[in-house]
Amino acid sequence: MPALEDSIRFVKGVGPKKAALFEKLHIRTLRDALETYPRDYEDRTKITPIADIAEDGKYAIRAVVGTEPKTTHIRKGMTLVKCTIFDESGSLPVTYFNSPYAAALLRVGQEYVFYGRVQANGHTRMLVSPQSEKVSPDADHPGRIVPVYPLTAGLTQRDMARVTEAALDAVPGDWPDPLPEVLRARYNLPDAADALAAIHRPQSAQDMTDARRRMVFEELFLLCCGLQQLKERRRADTGLVFSDASLADFFAALPFSPTGAQRRAIGEIASDCASGRPMNRLVQGDVGSGKTIVAAALCALAAKSGYQAAFMAPTEILAAQHAETLAPLLEKLGISCTLLTGSMSAAQKRAALAAIESGAAQVVIGTHALIQQSVTFHRLGAVVADEQHRFGVAQRAALSAKGQTPHVLVMSATPIPRTLALILYGDLDVSVLDEVPPGRQPVETYAVGENMRKRITAFIDKQIEQGGQVYVVCPLVEEGEMNLKSAEQHAVDLQKALPHRRVAVLHGRMKSADKERIMQAFAAQEYDILVATTVIEVGVDVPNANLMVVEDADRFGLSQLHQLRGRVGRGTRQSYCIFFGADKGQTARERLKILCKTNDGFEVARADLSQRGPGDFFGRRQHGLPALHVADPIADLALMQSAREEAEQILQTDPTLAGYPELRARVHHMFEERDDEAFN
Ligand code: ADP
Ligand code: MG
Repeated sequence: MPALEDSIRFVKGVGPKKAALFEKLHIRTLRDALETYPRDYEDRTKITPIADIAEDGKYAIRAVVGTEPKTTHIRKGMTLVKCTIFDESGSLPVTYFNSPYAAALLRVGQEYVFYGRVQANGHTRMLVSPQSEKVSPDADHPGRIVPVYPLTAGLTQRDMARVTEAALDAVPGDWPDPLPEVLRARYNLPDAADALAAIHRPQSAQDMTDARRRMVFEELFLLCCGLQQLKERRRADTGLVFSDASLADFFAALPFSPTGAQRRAIGEIASDCASGRPMNRLVQGDVGSGKTIVAAALCALAAKSGYQAAFMAPTEILAAQHAETLAPLLEKLGISCTLLTGSMSAAQKRAALAAIESGAAQVVIGTHALIQQSVTFHRLGAVVADEQHRFGVAQRAALSAKGQTPHVLVMSATPIPRTLALILYGDLDVSVLDEVPPGRQPVETYAVGENMRKRITAFIDKQIEQGGQVYVVCPLVEEGEMNLKSAEQHAVDLQKALPHRRVAVLHGRMKSADKERIMQAFAAQEYDILVATTVIEVGVDVPNANLMVVEDADRFGLSQLHQLRGRVGRGTRQSYCIFFGADKGQTARERLKILCKTNDGFEVARADLSQRGPGDFFGRRQHGLPALHVADPIADLALMQSAREEAEQILQTDPTLAGYPELRARVHHMFEERDDEAFN
């Protein structure tokens, strides 16, 4: 009997050549094949009568071959085989392109289930190169549910079927199941071996759904168990105690009164920092919800208790801007602020480094430069990572490592529903800023096409006339993309169209110092229009800017567009956002319309999730979690909640999972796949 660790080379029909192709799909052993799930299924059990086929599409048709397949050679190396099939409702011509063997198997008078694409053209329809399976007279279930696997050139579905078949045969009878039996019973889930068989060889649509549900639950349950364990493990650590938790002077120094959500988040942070355990908290809030001062509160708490705080921003512009707003605020409280970025002069850096090492710098704001080896903190007690998705988890960990288990606050502007955040960031505590500061008007948003170009240019002019400022965002242009406008070119064009306006350009290839100079000049209203690539996507705050125009908006993700839009609507002026690209097809138009309809980042994220699929949205880089292979965090939300509750429950009674060896091994394996420092 073959074993799962055997190479697929020993499967009949798989030689060294095919094996090399399988290798491209990371399939070396039978176990690999078993764990390669179909990406889709073709339901050939749903038979469509010929008369009911009106549109192009894939169909399963149960029909009898009516005419002898006839072969014609249209030109060298090109053959066509034609015949006609019929069922009780009508008849249909079949054409095979270049597959004489498939056609040669057909017998006149024999019934088959055909599966393939029907091309409809006016009143004529044609079934093109279908697959066929003979129907035996006594079969009541013709057709099957056929798994469709991911492939690579040179491999066919038949090859995949062959190896998964062999793999299923190698599954031993005592296949261990990581899911405890009580859970399987409670949620009505098939056991592991049955589910695997059904995933690869479903007998019915129900079979397939049940199997998938089980796989999803398993994946989420393992994830939740692992996250919960990490969280518990960290709970056991001792944390620094910030003994002075009074924030009255901090609140008094603010130029505005904080929202309820900000107060709540700050309160949670203060109590974390006084608890004696290290804080690991995520602050999640839409753009403009005011995350910066929440982080500032943590910095103030640290400084007041004699510790340093490090505030890491993803770009130089943002770091400089944070320093500019936070320094005056914190200095009112007698707290010193220092900026550290890569583009500072050697002398400036030396001074900053010395202040950081001596402890004279109480709050240090900077970029990745903060994690360089040359940076030594005197007494680092708190770490903030702004726009956390821009940082690798490892970078965050490297910053933390510069202190002795400092309190960690990460901030994210990718809003996801709270229930989801609790799971995906299961190892973190979550504060949600679900309230925007008062007085903000929603940004009026429009999706337009090229035919509106002149009017939009006039609209830009009018906003400037009325004292506003304008961002124009262009996508990054890669070489060879001729029909897209680069920021530089677009700035030239705009300047020509509006010669009396002051146009600046900002893009990623410019030196940091230049970028910062331009950004500052724009903030000081020395420019009317800033043409930029997405370097301004994160965080930049110029309240006087009230119009954003995005060129080729169809090239951006919805959440990214929402982030961009967050750059306007920060002042009291009515703000506008205009997306070009609505003339790039229906999908583009529909996507952009979502943004016209809502200003709510949670809603946008939801739509983005359902359109892009979770794999993309929750790509590993975004949150540093193990990748989810089968679960869809939105569609499977209910199941997710159950998985989380069950994980909590089981770990409460058995924190190390000693009583569940298979579960324990699988959780371990899942979290092993990731970087070592990932959780710190
Ligand atoms: P985020 O980082 O969440 O996108 P910011 O912290 O940059 O948002 O805040 C956006 C703007 O709102 C800033 O100009 C900030 O000064 C202002 N702001 C923050 N909180 C309040 C508040 N409670 N009331 C009024 N304005 C606020
Ligand atoms: Mg921010």
